[in-house]
Amino acid sequence: MLPLMASKVRLYVEHPLGEGQSVVLTQPQAHYLTGVMRLGVGAVISVLNGVDGEWDAELVEAGKRKGVLLCHAQTKPLQVPPDLWLLFAPIKKARTDFIVEKAAEMGAKRIVPIQTAYTNADRIRVEKLQAHVIEAVEQCGGTYVPQVTPLQKLGAVLDGWSPERRLMFCDETMLDQPSAMSGSAGPWAIIIGPEGGFSDPERTRLRAMPAATPVSLGPRILRADTAAVAAMTLWQSRFGDWQ
Ligand code: SAM
Repeated sequence: MLPLMASKVRLYVEHPLGEGQSVVLTQPQAHYLTGVMRLGVGAVISVLNGVDGEWDAELVEAGKRKGVLLCHAQTKPLQVPPDLWLLFAPIKKARTDFIVEKAAEMGAKRIVPIQTAYTNADRIRVEKLQAHVIEAVEQCGGTYVPQVTPLQKLGAVLDGWSPERRLMFCDETMLDQPSAMSGSAGPWAIIIGPEGGFSDPERTRLRAMPAATPVSLGPRILRADTAAVAAMTLWQSRFGDWQ
């Protein structure tokens, strides 16, 4: 039988990490480590900052309001995911939270909320979504933190589209088509529509883009959050770092 491993606390910090580097904790971080996780001086946790990989760090000062960590050794280098962006139209709050969380877990490099013709939300709280991403990265063992960009209009995003970035256009009108993906590895983006789907002009524009590949996600209409996970699974297993 395999020995049981104690799972180590992972904490994201906005601070450079390196051997001998001390990291002064914010009040919520100190509270989390000492008040919630009940750790005291001498406890070793994992820290990451999205840039310097993962490090073992020892709690050398511990209080409810303040604390200091001391970095010892790097335990993982920075692992940058494949160059995959997820473009999605925000839906209800809990489902939008789910999408960004899953995108971070599944290895998106950038998360791009877009406003389409049938998008209900006209604002999003980028900082809250970014905080969900950080929690997901802490939980899943990742070392890279994908950026959530501010809400942008789909038209503006497509106006500035780089032709080198392939676009996996998840098109709900392709239900009767095989879900085969074509193309090769490189920069890609997945685009998922809102609950109401894409408008006809949007679909026409997307289909006309040389970078776009319209893709079916099977014979049933998936909710946007399910579609995001299904599309990332399909892409990762074909071109990503799951192979
Ligand atoms: N209201 C639309 C309809 O009834 O046709 C469905 C929109 S669906 C809930 C939200 C988004 O998920 C779609 O715009 C599309 O990007 C994606 N999606 C859902 N099911 C799909 C499928 N079977 N194939 C491709 N994309 C799909």
